Parts: sequence; structure tokens; C-alpha cells
Amino acid sequence: MKLTFKYPVYPTKTQETTLLRWFDHLCELQNSARHDRIVALEVEDRFVTLSEQQDKLTAAREKYDDFREVPQDFQNHALRRNDKAFVAFRKRCENGAAKKGFPRYKKRVRSLTWSLRKYPKVIRRKTKDADKQTIRVRENPIRETVWKHDRLKVPKLGEVKIYMHRPLQGDPKEVTLVRKASGWYAHISCELLDTPKVEPTAAIAVDVGTTHYLTTSEGEKEENPRWYREAEGLTRKHSKDLSRKKLGSNRRKKQQHKLALHHERTANRRKDFIGKLVYKLYHHKENNVLIAENLNTSNMVQNKHLSKSISDASWAKLFQWCGNIAERDGFHFHQVDPKNTSQTCSSCGQKSAKKLSLAIRTFDCQFCGMSLDRDHNAALNILYKAAAAFRGERWVTPLYEARNKNEARDTGLQEATQLTLFDALNKPKSLGLGS
Ligand SMILES: [Zn+2]
Repeated sequence: MKLTFKYPVYPTKTQETTLLRWFDHLCELQNSARHDRIVALEVEDRFVTLSEQQDKLTAAREKYDDFREVPQDFQNHALRRNDKAFVAFRKRCENGAAKKGFPRYKKRVRSLTWSLRKYPKVIRRKTKDADKQTIRVRENPIRETVWKHDRLKVPKLGEVKIYMHRPLQGDPKEVTLVRKASGWYAHISCELLDTPKVEPTAAIAVDVGTTHYLTTSEGEKEENPRWYREAEGLTRKHSKDLSRKKLGSNRRKKQQHKLALHHERTANRRKDFIGKLVYKLYHHKENNVLIAENLNTSNMVQNKHLSKSISDASWAKLFQWCGNIAERDGFHFHQVDPKNTSQTCSSCGQKSAKKLSLAIRTFDCQFCGMSLDRDHNAALNILYKAAAAFRGERWVTPLYEARNKNEARDTGLQEATQLTLFDALNKPKSLGLGS
């Protein structure tokens, strides 16, 4: 498992100038690497590999002084980033995706990455007969100090102040320095041991929406904070002010920074909310299984009336974080096919004859007479769908986890019933559906 820890760093004026110069260099390098590939594609119809470009980089470093000024590790990572974009592009072409997404020309680069290497360290034993023993240790990027700020070692730059507000865990492998509107940050990515999965006992399903951010299968609702709508007014004001400033002036720069800061704050608010929500979903009533829909948001944003609300809600991020936290803490997270979840009665399982529009907020069943909140009904359906898949009655989406994969293959699908965590399927009354 990989975890990334983010800390604010405070480079001095001189260090900042150097870093910005390196950013410019890396941007140029990345663009020329892109150009190199385009030429090879057009002229020779050939795909350039990463190692080819790395060889070229080594040659360039011998030839030009400005290449030698920047640590090779940063340059390698810039090439790797470019390679990743092209490999993904080629994959999309092979799969026949609608949007090919050709790698773009970069106007600027905002981050640089370097790997932390292992180096041999000699340990001398005090006993007579033992020889010198060499082990490989990974360099620690942090030098601890007695003051508030520790020091981050940056290649060819020296030490930069870093505020370690929480301790690092695991084995640090890579550091990325990022420049945002609010300042500089170090993202230290660490390798950790995988957390063993807990025994699934209590499950909860969530249905996401735009009226309420989310509704659980227990009928609890979470308000939609609508960050973008809230921020819209100020965004408009800042953008308007920006457009009135003279091109290239100092005031324009200041205004640009103001706008960027505003956007960053909105994004931070969203992240804060989602992080706390995911924590609440898992720890409230000690749930350890979370089930959600497998939504395809790229299709949904085509709806003109909802696109802004849907993009603002960033459900993709919510689901991604649910999965990440599940991996980190040993919980379970599953996504099921969203088809008909809001059109089916959760009590009798009959599909509604007429399609329910989004405006109708309660689900009234014509068959059994049940009346329930629309989102609550959908959340229950999601829960049952997952339960059905667990029992091997109907297979929906990639529900079966690696933990049970071998078991299922050896014993057949029916054996999936041994996971009796969803007793709700047999007695819907216990969830308060009867009334
Ligand atoms: Zn019904």
C-alpha cells in the first residue's frame, strides 16, 4: 500500500528562484520530449520508448551546461510523466475510446519529483569473528531539528524548511515539490505494509444525489454543501477584476494570484468535507462494509441542467477516497451497477411502471403500497444488490474481493452464501421498512 503525506515547505527567496528556474527547464524538457515523439510518430510512424529518451537526456547532459545544472532525477521524472501520457494515449487509441486525449503542450510545470535511493551502509560488529556487514538503507529526506521546522533535503539545492505536522509512516520512496497558490508543499510518498481486511459484519449503502449529497440505507441524509455555487459570486468578481487589469502588469499578477487562491480554497473545502464524510460513513455505528453505485459521471454531466451540480459534487473523488480508506484501514468498499436502483421498490422488488422523474421525491409502490423517500429507497436497493451478489444469486459488478477469489473459484458461486453479513435481505422489517 502506498500513502502520500503532504507537508508545507518554506523555501527561501534564493531557493524559490532556483526552483522556479528548474520548473521552466523541466517544462521545456517535457515539451521537447513531446515534440520528439510527435516527429517520430509522423515521420517514421514509430513509438519512442522512455529509455531512448533517457539516453538522449544523458547525452544532452554531457553536452550542455544548463542541463547539468538541474538534477537528472527531476529530468527523468519529467520524461516519465510525458511517457505516461503517451502510453495512456496509445492505450485509448487501441481500445477505440471516443476521446483519444492527445498529450497536450504544457504551458508551465508546477511540480518536480525525485526518488529516494538506497545506499549501502557498513555495519561493524563488535564480536571478533564476524565480518563487516553491508546493508542497504534508504536515505531519509528529513533532518530533524529542535526548532519548529525540520529540514527537507533537496538535491543540488540544500535543505528547505519543512513543517512536519504529523510523523511519516513506512518507507519514504519519492518526494514531489509542488507549488500552489497558497505556497509550496512536499508530497512524500511512502510504502507501507498492507492492512489485513477486517471480518465484514455491518454494511451500509449510500445513494448520492444533488438535492442531498448522500442518503444512507438507514435513511440518514447529508446536506449538499454546493461549494461551487457558494464560491461562484466571488469567482465572478475576481475574474471581472482580472479582466480589467492591464496585460503584463504587476496588478494583474496580484489579481491572478487572488483568483487562484480562491479556487484552491474551494477545492480544499470540498476535500475537507469528503474526507470527513468518508470517515463518518465507516466509523458511525461501526460499519465496515460500504456499498455505492458505480456511476459514470462523464455521461451524466452531459445533462445541461445538472452538469454543474454533478461536477461540483465530485462523486468520483468520494468513491475514490472510500476505496482508499478501505484499503488503508482494512474495510470493504464495493460498487454495484446503478441500473434501476431508483425505479425499483425496495420492499417487493417490483419495477415501477412509469419512469420516476427526478422531481418526484417519494417512491410510492403500486404493487405493495409502500411509500418511502426516493433516495432512501435507492440506497436500500443498492444494499440488496450487493447482498444478492454476495449470496451468488446474481452477479453484478466486481464485487468479489481478492480475499475470497480463490475460495469462490474452488467451490463455485453458491458457496458465496457463507458470507452471511447481509441478513437484511431476509428480514427487511428489521430496517424499519414495514410501516
Ligand atoms: Zn412494492
